[in-house]
Amino acid sequence: MVTSGATSVSRRLLGRLRDVMAGGGTAQDRLDKVVTLIARDMVAEVCSCYVMRAGEVLELFATEGLKHESVHRTRLRVAEGLVGDIAAHARPLALADAQAHPHFAYRPETGEEVYHSLMGVPIIRGSRVLGVLVVQNRTMRHYTEEEVETLETVAMVLAELVASGDLVDRSELVPVDGNAVLPLRLEGVRLNGGVGLGVAVLHRPRIVVRRLVAEDPDIEMERLTRALAAIKSQIDVLFTRPELRDGEHRDVLETYRMFTEDKGWLNRIGEAVRTGLTAEAGVQKVLDDTRARMNLIADAYLRERLHDFEDLANRLLQQLSGDDEEGGRGGDLPEAAILVARNIGPMELFDYDPRRLRGLVLEEGSTTSHVAIVARALDIPVVGRVKDVLDMIDSLDPVICDGDNGQVFIRPPDDIRDSVVEALSARQQRRAIYARLRDLPAVTRDDTRIALYMNAGLLLDLQHLHECGADGIGLYRTELPFMARSALPNVDAQTLLYRKILDQAEGKRVVFRTLDVGGDKVLPYWNPSEEDNPALGWRSIRITLDRPAVMRQQLRALLRAAGGRELSVMFPMVAEVAELVQARRILDIEIARETAAGTPLPERIRVGTMLEVPALAFQLDALLPLVDFVSIGSNDLTQFLFAIDRGNPRIAERYDPLAPGMVRFMHMVSEKCRAHGVDLSVCGEMAARPLEAMTLIGVGIRTLSVTAPAIGPIKTMVRSLDVASLESYLFTLLDSRDHSLRSRLRGFAIDHGVSL
Ligand code: PEP
Ligand code: MG
Repeated sequence: MVTSGATSVSRRLLGRLRDVMAGGGTAQDRLDKVVTLIARDMVAEVCSCYVMRAGEVLELFATEGLKHESVHRTRLRVAEGLVGDIAAHARPLALADAQAHPHFAYRPETGEEVYHSLMGVPIIRGSRVLGVLVVQNRTMRHYTEEEVETLETVAMVLAELVASGDLVDRSELVPVDGNAVLPLRLEGVRLNGGVGLGVAVLHRPRIVVRRLVAEDPDIEMERLTRALAAIKSQIDVLFTRPELRDGEHRDVLETYRMFTEDKGWLNRIGEAVRTGLTAEAGVQKVLDDTRARMNLIADAYLRERLHDFEDLANRLLQQLSGDDEEGGRGGDLPEAAILVARNIGPMELFDYDPRRLRGLVLEEGSTTSHVAIVARALDIPVVGRVKDVLDMIDSLDPVICDGDNGQVFIRPPDDIRDSVVEALSARQQRRAIYARLRDLPAVTRDDTRIALYMNAGLLLDLQHLHECGADGIGLYRTELPFMARSALPNVDAQTLLYRKILDQAEGKRVVFRTLDVGGDKVLPYWNPSEEDNPALGWRSIRITLDRPAVMRQQLRALLRAAGGRELSVMFPMVAEVAELVQARRILDIEIARETAAGTPLPERIRVGTMLEVPALAFQLDALLPLVDFVSIGSNDLTQFLFAIDRGNPRIAERYDPLAPGMVRFMHMVSEKCRAHGVDLSVCGEMAARPLEAMTLIGVGIRTLSVTAPAIGPIKTMVRSLDVASLESYLFTLLDSRDHSLRSRLRGFAIDHGVSL
């Protein structure tokens, strides 16, 4: 292999660094030796190492060349001076005339005025800046790109020393843009209420690269090539699987495979390895650099691409460390675990035993994302949009996930722990009160009966049906069991499952919604092709009408499972009456087929549609004579009505479901359904929140379908409500010009003693 002068210097330097790191003495002694070594090797008069301390302060920890009395005295805030600038932007600076730079900050105690040129790099670990490493020269030296890279490589080795906790307490190692010191309290957004106490389990835990410096770079290059080849062949094996022969899967896999051949990315890893790092350290270095810089990028598309490379880098690290299983999954989950993730798909949540999950903390996510809905069904508290939480938490750190208040405590002090334990027992008591309500009817003070149904999607949910006293299951999301399997279940498997559900419901009504995949609900064995707007793309009934075999099999299984009992079938994402007509036709064909085969038919078949695409609301007069019921899916409806991506945290709270436009829409649909004598319910998340549920009742909706834990609070609200006075008040608000009716409705509830 041809090596340039610069890389051979760096390799020699790395060899010496390895000896110093492995040698005796305190961490400070080792750091002192390291700066001397770097200065000598890079022919610089000065080499200094600044370490990030609590409160975003960079402290001079070691120097060769500056005045020694400034060590541990000179401190710069992040973004102050050139050192602070390097930390703030997580990028290197190489300046021949540093003093001419507008950010230059002169510190007299250091005696640095005689040094004109400066080259500095951030010390990064994970995506977190732990310090800054600087060299300076008296002359106006033009540092080369290779020299910057050499210093970056050295900084990576130093990062391990800083992060070890031997130089400063680990509790001080906070990220650049977080002011917190331990214990941490982080703000997020409530995605599901409840409080959980446990230890952190990091979804995709970071593989800790222990061997950083290579014995022989050629061997490392070979290892890298082998690991990449292994990943490519894993993808090739996938291509040969019969169930993945379909076009869409190939597209996704092809795209992924293309990343493994991305020249720019591979070159950067190769370069890092050639400077003397091991293959895994090279991958880690490129991953850290990209993540640190991309953290400063707001563009969603670029960040998405970063995720792809990050995923690939993680796989490569797993491959190189001999662990090609996905890490941190189910098996050795602690008794009480708080799962922490950047984002997680609803299916991935099933990799963890829900009985041991006490909470979920996400860097992204929004109230209507499917993982939040699944977590709600499992009664797991969720806090979303907790900025940079993964950088501040280590595996097995004690964590409190306070879903009620949208906050997370990491390594909480005893008094906070104690008060949470108290809150948990108060919650148990509240549950006992709701349990007592179980057998009381959901009737308002002025005698209006509200039907309270439960949303479900897992067999596990059925146990709550009788506990919470719901009238039945108003939305059974059939895609959830599909998502938890490794292959599409056949008719027999589906029949078995649906029969069990009906058996366990013991005569209470169950509304089965046909397969609603696509958008953020991805089947592992049926990847859709890449779409720019998956929420507006090939999803739900659009897929099952285009692939009618899937719809036919599901309807056949439902007819068989009913075995003479009542069957309610609901079609999702219907955008026009013609789609409903087409779906009904498929159902009629299946009914005829099963009749001919002698299957006992359901005593009654109720057919309904979700109303979640606004266009359908303008065809209600044509639609309503064809259906027995309509259920409003407020999650998708909100997204389409306001043109707002339900998964995008940045705009998640821009519009309120209690905005006049939304409330008016509900009122209009409710009036039409009443006129046509068609049952109307709401089964989106909106119905599960007491104030929103009160409003829905106010516009005439009499059936709500909510998660099991919400039944108690909603029933309490219903039993304290006087519908007549609410209806007349709400009528006066329909033409409001306000952004939201929330505060007025809350005012009504308070004035009229409605329990929220
Ligand atoms: C909805 O969109 O409101 C709904 C109930 O369906 P899902 O959340 O499963 O898309
Ligand atoms: Mg929906």
